[in-house]
Amino acid sequence: MNRVAKRARYLSILIVVFSLCAIVFFYDYFTSASTWVVHPSNANIYHDGELTVAGNVYSSDKVKLLQSDNNGLTYADDFFTRLSTLHVVGDKDDNITTGVLTSKRDKLIGYDLLNGLFGAADSDHTIHLTINAELSALAYQALGEQNGAIGIYNYETGEVLCMVSKPSYDPYDPPSAADAVDGVYINRVMNGVFVPGSIMKLVTSYAAIENISDIYEQTFDCHQGVEIDGQWIECNGYHGTQTFEQALANSCNAAFARIAIQVGNDTLEEYAKKVGITSTYTIDGVRTSAGRFNVADADNVNLAWAGIGQYTTMVDPMQYMMFCGAIANGGVMKKPYYIEEGSFLSSINISDDGERIMEEDVANQLKELMRNNTISNYGEWNFPDLEVGAKSGTAEVEEGDPHSWFVGFSNAEQTPLAFVVIVENDGGVSSSINVASTVLQRAASIMDK
Ligand SMILES: [Zn+2]
Repeated sequence: MNRVAKRARYLSILIVVFSLCAIVFFYDYFTSASTWVVHPSNANIYHDGELTVAGNVYSSDKVKLLQSDNNGLTYADDFFTRLSTLHVVGDKDDNITTGVLTSKRDKLIGYDLLNGLFGAADSDHTIHLTINAELSALAYQALGEQNGAIGIYNYETGEVLCMVSKPSYDPYDPPSAADAVDGVYINRVMNGVFVPGSIMKLVTSYAAIENISDIYEQTFDCHQGVEIDGQWIECNGYHGTQTFEQALANSCNAAFARIAIQVGNDTLEEYAKKVGITSTYTIDGVRTSAGRFNVADADNVNLAWAGIGQYTTMVDPMQYMMFCGAIANGGVMKKPYYIEEGSFLSSINISDDGERIMEEDVANQLKELMRNNTISNYGEWNFPDLEVGAKSGTAEVEEGDPHSWFVGFSNAEQTPLAFVVIVENDGGVSSSINVASTVLQRAASIMDK
């Protein structure tokens, strides 16, 4: 009797172990089958390590960015088009995870869980991107010798026209592991996180408008800086007495240090969250990186630094572009997309009405302030007919010269575009303004066609 009981126990254990294995297998099958199918050892879709049945990828200006056939992968003919669109198109080794070649590979080769690979070879799997090849190549070259990131999107529709990340490389001549430095595989627009510097003053301004009732009546003195609790916070100039509007146009650290302290730790943190700095977004299947904003334990000096964009704060360029787009769009933030809705991968953004992140009235006030920045400081002549509202930023970084930021929007009816430009280690703000001027004017002429 005892022996039977013992056997029964063994049998029960075996059944439990078997069931567990089965659960693990089916879970794996449903979650990872597409990963197994697209593995380079699958001879149905690879030949000598080259994908042979992936579809084609086209830019919005009808440039074939990628083709796959029995010769493997063929990229665009133009050198700068290949480099400037690589982080959107991707590479065969999946080093660039933001590329459609990785993020949409199972769909590109025609695989699905129900039908497997049947029909993969003879169906058409073309992806049409909203990305403009000519604009991308121009943007890449506009960065000159520097690394950086450039994004432009339509804040009314969500359509991304340009998403360029530098450094890049020629997919026909990929870097060796040792040469793959400076985050060459990272799409800096979606997955770069940078110190914001003075572009952060837009968030501080947003919080100030809603929480300091007399913000427009206050004046702020600047003696090339200000003393906060015995510590000197340096400013970029000697600004004298200024209004709130003038302080933003001057990007005055002395003024914004005191504004941040008036706003307070909890409120400033709440507004950083509200505009999305600490959030991630899934855009055409790729997650953007979350930035960081934490002033819970900051004293007045550190709160002041956070309010002017230093301290421990980090932001993601794509997210900041979305924030600027929301300001221009009456407070509603449209989610970007870069895969054309008509593509077989029909984007889920079709019914996206956007997310309201601020009241329309407040958005319009910020819009006015940013328009004033351009008129009084950055130069309307840099952006003819575009009605640009913007904010520049110089972000101190641990190594090398500061990064140069320029973010904003075009308020003209024909060109509802929000943009982000970051030129790394370039010191002054003029470089990012020049880059923005070049690419925005080209974007406008493309939309005019
Ligand atoms: Zn100042």
